Amino acid sequence: MEFFASAKKNLAKVKNYQPGKPIEEVEREYGLKNAIKMASNENALGPSPKALAAIRKNLPKIHRYPDGNCFYLRNKLSKVLGVSAESIVFGNGSDEILVFAVRTFVGPGDEVIIADPTFMIYEIATQVEDGSIVKIPMRNFHYDLDGMKGCINHKTKLIFLANPDNPVGTTISEKDLLKFLKEVPQNIVVVLDEAYYEFAKGTKGYPDSIRFLSDFKNIIIARTFSKAYGLSGLRIGFGIANPNIAYALNKVREPFNVNLLAQAAAIAALDDTAHLQKTLQMVLAGRRYLSGELKTMGLRVVDTATNFILVDMGTDANQVHEKLLQKGIIIRPMSVWGLKTFIRVTIGKPAENNKFLTALNKILKRS
Ligand SMILES: *Cc1c(COP(=O)(O)O)cnc(C)c1O
Repeated sequence: MEFFASAKKNLAKVKNYQPGKPIEEVEREYGLKNAIKMASNENALGPSPKALAAIRKNLPKIHRYPDGNCFYLRNKLSKVLGVSAESIVFGNGSDEILVFAVRTFVGPGDEVIIADPTFMIYEIATQVEDGSIVKIPMRNFHYDLDGMKGCINHKTKLIFLANPDNPVGTTISEKDLLKFLKEVPQNIVVVLDEAYYEFAKGTKGYPDSIRFLSDFKNIIIARTFSKAYGLSGLRIGFGIANPNIAYALNKVREPFNVNLLAQAAAIAALDDTAHLQKTLQMVLAGRRYLSGELKTMGLRVVDTATNFILVDMGTDANQVHEKLLQKGIIIRPMSVWGLKTFIRVTIGKPAENNKFLTALNKILKRS
């Protein structure tokens, strides 16, 4: 495709995000039925039945605009999290919170510091605003926080820390995070992207970042209903920050960015603690099982606090990806991140995990 001449010049270099393939597309392309998706870190158990009931109940209301302030969800979440209502900002997915942060703080020539590899959206959103990305390579799949700090200069506006990181899966400890936050100048905003918070919560040393909000006025915590809560398709996430930051973020938010069904479903999902527990149990058990089996196969597995695993295939991962697709299993090859021999696989239901392992075993023995 040719770049339309009068579009903003900086957009020419914006990378296009490549999502995991949808199930329907793989089934159509490969002439398959019952393909399984272990590619986008979704909840394999599906949404909470209570969320589904709330959606059904609200369907007759969709001729109305949603509540632009998310009043009921805001109050509920404020109680659940123990934060003030005005410190919460809602987004069309937490992706949108990340975009709001960039829109609010980054202009042409400003710098944004991220890790490498990390979540793609930070770079894309920065390029859209014509900012510059400064990438600090991870060290043995952990954040090099000293390296990041060393890159701070007068142009630095934002620092993104995905904790746990995607696609890596490792965490930053409370001790390291606190040290970092104390050293970063308070005019630079640090975004703590906690999309996998629910899965990581039980990990030793994982920070309870909400407690940092009183000491650090320059942090934005981003969380989502897309992962553990199983509502990816509805697009709803939120940011928690000092009310002054929340106020600024709301300036760049479109008035009805969170739809009516998403708001109702999120409230119900928060109430369905049994579904969340079931999800966490499945993921934690599946994570232990898959990691163990992959290691037994002689593969290098990166430690993870999430619902996915980064694994080194020891061979071209694009080929492994293609062969898995032929067997109706969708994972993510990591070549876009420069990890040519790695794949990222989302923990599925026990039968899905086994189907994946069996297929992978066959593929790796033949190659
Ligand atoms: C999945 C993910 C998100 C957000 O997803 P949404 O569906 O937009 O809420 C944010 N950050 C990371 C690191 C993720 O993996």
